[in-house]
Amino acid sequence: MTRRRHHEQHRTNRTGWLRAAVLGANDGLISVGSLVLGVAASQASQSSVFVAGVAAWIAGAMSMAAGEYVSVSSQADTEEADLRLEQRELERHPQREHKELVAIYVKRGLDADLADRVATQLTQHDALQAHARDEIGISKATRARPLQAALASALSFTLGVAPALLVIGLVPHGILLPAVIFAVLVFLAVLGALGAWTGGADILSGVLRVTLWGGLALAVTGVVGAFLGRVGA
Ligand SMILES: [Zn+2]
Repeated sequence: MTRRRHHEQHRTNRTGWLRAAVLGANDGLISVGSLVLGVAASQASQSSVFVAGVAAWIAGAMSMAAGEYVSVSSQADTEEADLRLEQRELERHPQREHKELVAIYVKRGLDADLADRVATQLTQHDALQAHARDEIGISKATRARPLQAALASALSFTLGVAPALLVIGLVPHGILLPAVIFAVLVFLAVLGALGAWTGGADILSGVLRVTLWGGLALAVTGVVGAFLGRVGA
């Protein structure tokens, strides 16, 4: 029974990661894909389109990483402050903290005697860890890691950008515009399916939703790019 629950929890964590990665890739694909399309629609040369794509990729990945770092850092600060407070309480009121822990285990279903023994042994082993995990809900596996989060979001953004950049680098100039549109839509559909799958939602409606909104973003920037290209020329 415990083993089973343990397994399920792990799976939840993993899909959480995958889900975040899919969202980051989606961001990269839609923002850089539509930017590149807008530039391509303005009749810019293929190398200008490529440079614009690379610049958008770097800027986007940096901005994702910075945003994620700041947000997860402040979460880490809060956890750190919580742990310091708990450590102080443990030093000042060990009896009260012991009772607190016993009460938590009783609430979870242990009888008073066993709860007392569990609390005593865990306190001897590592009092702060026991309180962090069972009272505040902070464990090693769930600790906020700003740098890791920042790298992960920059990487997932990059994975989303890659198909658009590859297409620009590889296709002949004559079919640049349709090739970019096709590649972005296909990868949007793939990401929509992945996102729906990790969220346990219906795959087809996930694909349709993401492709439709992404398609709309492409269409708007494409039209704006074409208009500006005509005005500028
Ligand atoms: Zn406590």
